[in-house]
Amino acid sequence: MKQFDCIVVGQGIAGSILAYQLMSLQKKVLVINNPITNHSSVVAAGMFNPVSGKRMVLAWNWEKFLKELTDTYQSLESMFGEPFLNFCPTIQYFGNVKEQNDFSIKAEDALFMGHLNADPKKHFGFKDELGAFEILTTGWLQSEKLIKLLRNKWHAEGLYLEEAFEYKMLETLDEGFQYKNHTASKIIFCEGMGITENPYFNYVPMVPAKGDVFVIKCEGIPQTRIWKKGIYLVPIGNGQFKAGSTYRWGNLSPAPDEAGRKELLEKLHLLLDVPFEIIKHLSGIRPASKDRMPIVGEHPQLHNMYLLNGLGTKGIMWAPYVSKQLIGKMYTNTSIEKEIALERFHSAFQF
Ligand SMILES: Cc1cc2nc3c(=O)[nH]c(=O)nc-3n(C[C@H](O)[C@H](O)[C@H](O)COP(=O)(O)OP(=O)(O)OC[C@H]3O[C@@H](n4cnc5c(N)ncnc54)[C@H](O)[C@@H]3O)c2cc1C
Repeated sequence: MKQFDCIVVGQGIAGSILAYQLMSLQKKVLVINNPITNHSSVVAAGMFNPVSGKRMVLAWNWEKFLKELTDTYQSLESMFGEPFLNFCPTIQYFGNVKEQNDFSIKAEDALFMGHLNADPKKHFGFKDELGAFEILTTGWLQSEKLIKLLRNKWHAEGLYLEEAFEYKMLETLDEGFQYKNHTASKIIFCEGMGITENPYFNYVPMVPAKGDVFVIKCEGIPQTRIWKKGIYLVPIGNGQFKAGSTYRWGNLSPAPDEAGRKELLEKLHLLLDVPFEIIKHLSGIRPASKDRMPIVGEHPQLHNMYLLNGLGTKGIMWAPYVSKQLIGKMYTNTSIEKEIALERFHSAFQF
C-alpha cells in the first residue's frame, strides 16, 4: 500500500496548481488524471484580464488574484527554468459609440487608475474605425506547456497516475481514504466538467459554456500585444495567435463545429485588415457555476473530501488564489470566502 497525504483527481489548471501548492508545503500528493485532449485548460488562450466584459467591470478581488497569480506562476518558472507567464497589454478596439463613452467614464474613475490608457496610435493591420484603448494589467499564461511539464515531473517522481478515476474503488477509512493500493488522508476533486459523473459532487449545479478557438498564422500584425474587438488575438510566437473565443450554452459536444468556425471567422474579418491562415480549430467546455464564481469547499457529509471547480472563464487568474483558500480550509480550518464557498450549494444536496 502506498501512502499519501492527498489524492488530487484531475490535472487541468485547478488540479495542477492545487497539487503544486500542496507539494510546496511538503505534502505527499498523488495526482490521478485522465488527459482528454480538449479539456478546458489545454484549449484556453490563457489570458488574464482584471477589467472584464463589455461593461468593463473590475473583477472581484482582482488585486489578490493578480498577486497570487504572479507569485505562483513565477515560482513555477523558477522551478522549471522556463518562461510561462507573459505580462502583455491588450489593445481593445471600440465596437460602437457606447463603448467609447463607457471608456471615457472609466478612464476618469480613480478605481481604474493604472489599468486603462487612451491609445491614439494607429496599428497596421486592424480595422479601427472608432479607435482603441489599452488595458495595461493583462497578460497570458502558457497553460498547456505548464501542465505538461508538471505532469512529466510528477510522472517521473511516481506521483502521477494516468487513468479515469473509478469512484466505486474509493473506500472511506477511519482516517481518510483508500483508492486501489493507495491511501490518503484527504482527497480533492478538480475534474472540470468531469464533475457531472462524480457521484459525490454531481449535485452541484453547473452551467457549462462551450468555447471555440482558432490558432491562426498572421505575419502582418505585431506579437507585442493582445488585440481585441469582439474576439481576442493572443500572440503565441512564430507569427501565430490564439483567436477566440465563442460562448455557447446548450450544445455540449466538446468537438469543434461549423457554428463555432463561422462565428470566429466573421469576428476575425471584423478585426483584421490583413490576410491570415487558420492552422487549427479547437474547442472545449468551460466548467462554469450557476453564479459564475469558483466552487471551493468540503463535502457536506464526508470529512476530508473536497471540491475545487467552477473556474469558468477565468481559470488562469483564479486557480492560484482559490487553491490557497482551499488549503487554508484543509489544514488550518480557515473559512473560505462566502462568494466562492461550496456551502452556497448545500441546499441542493440530499442529506
Ligand atoms: C475556448 C476556451 C477559451 C478559454 N480561454 C481562457 C482564457 O483565456 N483565460 C482563462 O482564464 N480561462 C479560459 N478558459 C477557461 C479555462 O480553460 C477554465 O477556467 C479552466 O481551464 C478550468 O480548469 P479545470 O482544471 O477546472 O478543468 P479542466 O481544464 O477541464 O481539467 C480537468 C481535468 O480533470 C480530468 N478529469 C475529469 N474527470 C476525471 C476523472 N474522473 N478521472 C480522472 N481525470 C478526470 C480531465 O480529463 C482534465 O484533465 C477558456 C476555456 C475555453 C473552452
